[in-house]
Amino acid sequence: MKKTILITGASTGIGKVTAIHFAKNGWNVAATMRSPEKDTELKNISGIKIFKLDVMDQASIDGAIQSTIKEFGKIDVLFNNAGYALIGAFEAMTEAQIKRQFDTNVFGVMNVTRSILPHFRERKDGTIITTSSMGGRLTFPLYSAYHGTKFAIEGFMESLQFELKPFNIKVKNIEPGAIKTDFYSRSIEIATMKPYEKYIEIANGNMMKVGETAPGPQVVAEKVFTASTDGKFKLRYPVGNNAPALLFMRWLLPLKMFMGIVRSQVEKGMK
Ligand code: NAD
Repeated sequence: MKKTILITGASTGIGKVTAIHFAKNGWNVAATMRSPEKDTELKNISGIKIFKLDVMDQASIDGAIQSTIKEFGKIDVLFNNAGYALIGAFEAMTEAQIKRQFDTNVFGVMNVTRSILPHFRERKDGTIITTSSMGGRLTFPLYSAYHGTKFAIEGFMESLQFELKPFNIKVKNIEPGAIKTDFYSRSIEIATMKPYEKYIEIANGNMMKVGETAPGPQVVAEKVFTASTDGKFKLRYPVGNNAPALLFMRWLLPLKMFMGIVRSQVEKGMK
């Protein structure tokens, strides 16, 4: 029987390319998104079905899971991928902005994960894969809220492994470095205010340059495929040009030294 993956945030970027990659490899794909009516591409690909799912709307989560099981018989892999970044000066962020960031990147992941668990537990099989980030284990300037969400994902998923292993449910984090998607344009919300403007201009400018030369989302899709098929109870899958090296450096070096390196790169040009 063909395997099935349910992907959140599949309308663009990593989610979309992952949907296409799995379909090409013979999987059934439930490509979920907030506005299925806007899709013009995925619906034409054999093996892909589109369902409405907003990670902040429980009814849409339940509906998408039920429709996927009805369509394909079962779900083997959940890929929690939907997310975006609220960046900039923390002082300039409103409570509503911060709540929305955590609602999407953390509570959204928890909502979908909790909703699929009965299906995986009853089948005594399933894999939960979440797009964390290398930013779930190291930090850069101006990403305090975003890092807060991805650090939360790392702790949540790391602990979840224990209680789910007896049910043969695997828990995995994909940890991309910079990947060239709309993330750096449409999916970044910047909070700013006068005293921080110069810092944001220079530091964010330097960070955006990394995004411009980053690899595309296909490398992440391939890593998600590996994580879905390797049969391992392995938690972390760093991916992208710089993620494995930077995570290794963060692990190896004293924090002060690592932060000095980050400052020297990101704050380049600052007087
Ligand atoms: P993207 O903006 O192309 O994709 C994000 C998707 O999430 C979009 O399709 C968006 O519509 C969807 N989404 C946002 N809120 C949603 C909600 N409430 N319900 C359902 N879907 C929602 O950007 P991407 O780079 O493909 O990002 C995918 C994931 O990868 C995110 O979790 C992001 O944090 C993570 N990530 C990206 C990078 C990068 O450099 N691009 C690096 C590390 C981690």
